[in-house]
Amino acid sequence: MDIKNFIKVTLLIERKYPVKIRKAEPFEILIHGIMSTRTKDTTTFPAQKRLLSIADTPKGISELPLKKIESLIYPVGFYKTKAKLLKKACNFLIDNFDSKVPSDKSELMKIPGVGPKVASLVLEWGFNLPFIAVDTHVNRIVQRLGFVSIGTKPDKTEKILEHALKDNIKIKVNSSFIYFGRAICKPISPLCSECPVYNYCEFKLKSKYYKLGKREI
Ligand code: SF4
Repeated sequence: MDIKNFIKVTLLIERKYPVKIRKAEPFEILIHGIMSTRTKDTTTFPAQKRLLSIADTPKGISELPLKKIESLIYPVGFYKTKAKLLKKACNFLIDNFDSKVPSDKSELMKIPGVGPKVASLVLEWGFNLPFIAVDTHVNRIVQRLGFVSIGTKPDKTEKILEHALKDNIKIKVNSSFIYFGRAICKPISPLCSECPVYNYCEFKLKSKYYKLGKREI
């Protein structure tokens, strides 16, 4: 799929799933991002709320006993590792950024537990900047549409999108694609017959995958 069609498709998806900016304080988004890996939002959001209701600053979290953080964020996936990362990230913010979350991607990625996706999430949701956090939904859809090759890693997809798209399109991708991915372009058995961008999608042509019921992306 070329860039012209990708923009057209993005606008069609956004028409059906309008952008919902989940704006919040950058620190809150950072905490969310560190906890969210391999965990559903329905688990991450309540866990984040429990933690932030007890301590909502880097100093507050850094002073909590590790066991307390673990119990607050459980049952987030890998909660023991993530509890350690949260503490390390808070200490790093205190030591290096005067307890403030930076608004620069390379600075953000120095924080323990923060990779390109979490950094983009903080910039997009926390600072309202035109970045694209490529999660599993976004990466799957962009591959199925044929804008990047099958098997492209999220970090690479993110670079390609950020290079190719203008800011006004970038802000539509993450939110609209996530809702579209949950409702229509699901990981298994996508609802292609209900898809608003069916005519543009390259993946739907490979119907053998659906017949075999495989999950190849
Ligand atoms: S046609 Fe199917 S695979 Fe393609 S974007 Fe739509 S739901 Fe996803």
